[in-house]
Amino acid sequence: MTDLKELKQNVLMTAKKAYDEKLMAGTSGNISAYFREKQWIVITPSSYDYSLMAEEDIVVIDLDGNLVEGRHKPSSEWKMHAEIYRHLSHANAVVHTHSPYASSFAVNHQEIPVVLIEMIPFLKGKLEVSPYAQQGSAEVGLNAVPILERKNACLMANHGVVAIGGTLPEAYTNSVYVEDAAKIYHLALCSGHPVVIKEYEEV
Ligand code: 13P
Ligand code: ZN
Repeated sequence: MTDLKELKQNVLMTAKKAYDEKLMAGTSGNISAYFREKQWIVITPSSYDYSLMAEEDIVVIDLDGNLVEGRHKPSSEWKMHAEIYRHLSHANAVVHTHSPYASSFAVNHQEIPVVLIEMIPFLKGKLEVSPYAQQGSAEVGLNAVPILERKNACLMANHGVVAIGGTLPEAYTNSVYVEDAAKIYHLALCSGHPVVIKEYEEV
């Protein structure tokens, strides 16, 4: 039996960690865990200062956005989280960031090829870009789902990053590796001609 309190604590801890790690600026980004037995999403509140966020600020909603518990509005991207949980049974956590290096590739609509070994086990290959969708729309999630069926993360055009995992620590680590790959690829592009790992066959 999953414990709701534990999920809230994990969402809070992960949000603060991601903020401290500078994966999100200001109040951007959002994080959730899925209570699959109940079909509840445990999610960060909308536009809320991460440094002030407490366990009681984490919001619980159902897949249609109805409030189950909480005193704030859920993240404006709750539909993206809901579509991912609806369509992907292996995803139990979603980390959405605007991490700067990865987001710059998202702005350029530019994929990141497999240039680092970590991209294979963690991200399952190159980072693809999902088509642009308006903030808060279900399409933000629906456009990412075809990529996330095969990958643990993708870049979202003109927006940022979405990473998934079977658990919150996994989704978080994947989001860190997205930014790490983007940063190192950027530096390699600036200093030379990056060599892609050709041995990896894309799924
Ligand atoms: P929220 O603060 O509503 O979660 O929105 C942040 C964000 O990243 C929107 O895409
Ligand atoms: Zn966003």
